Amino acid sequence: MDENIISREMVRQTIGFHGHSCPGLAFGIRVAEQVLARFGSSRDEELVAVVENDMCAVDAIQFLTGCTFGKGNLLFLDYGKNAYTFYRRATDSGIRIAVRPEIGCLRDDQLGDLLRKKGGPGLDADEERLLAERRELRRRRIMEAPAEELFVVRDVAGPVPRRARVMESLVCQACGEPVMESRTRRFFGRTLCIPCFDAMEKRA
Ligand SMILES: [Zn+2]
Ligand SMILES: [Zn+2]
Repeated sequence: MDENIISREMVRQTIGFHGHSCPGLAFGIRVAEQVLARFGSSRDEELVAVVENDMCAVDAIQFLTGCTFGKGNLLFLDYGKNAYTFYRRATDSGIRIAVRPEIGCLRDDQLGDLLRKKGGPGLDADEERLLAERRELRRRRIMEAPAEELFVVRDVAGPVPRRARVMESLVCQACGEPVMESRTRRFFGRTLCIPCFDAMEKRA
């Protein structure tokens, strides 16, 4: 981790934003480090991030790179992958950062066993404490490992993906709430929002 790119204070603020310190957030901080080293930060929406999961790492990416859901320069693809693509609008190209499948320095059989047991029969107090220790060790290793050990980074070509434009709002004919036209569904001639459509379909 290069403190000239992301200072200890910025790490502290990122943990504050996320609410706790964890291995997932550490991955996000290291991803952001690669992005800031290459592109600088992007308060002006010059950068667009495409994230392939919606887990802890994405909070670090939003906080540190300036790519956020609300500004529309963070797009979420529900692929369940620990991978992040960043495009620069100016050059219409970018980089994809994917976490390597097996990272030698992160191998921890004990952590794996504890997580499996937690998901099954559960852990006693001693094991919970041990789990917290192993997770903290993992977090530290992620923060300290050379980036090349953690990630595969490759160049990607454009075009920069675009968020669906905000079009007209229609009013859902079941709940009466306004809804973006592109998110409406038709059901027996009525215009519905997605939750109302899902509820009607379940009853039908
Ligand atoms: Zn977390
Ligand atoms: Zn509705």
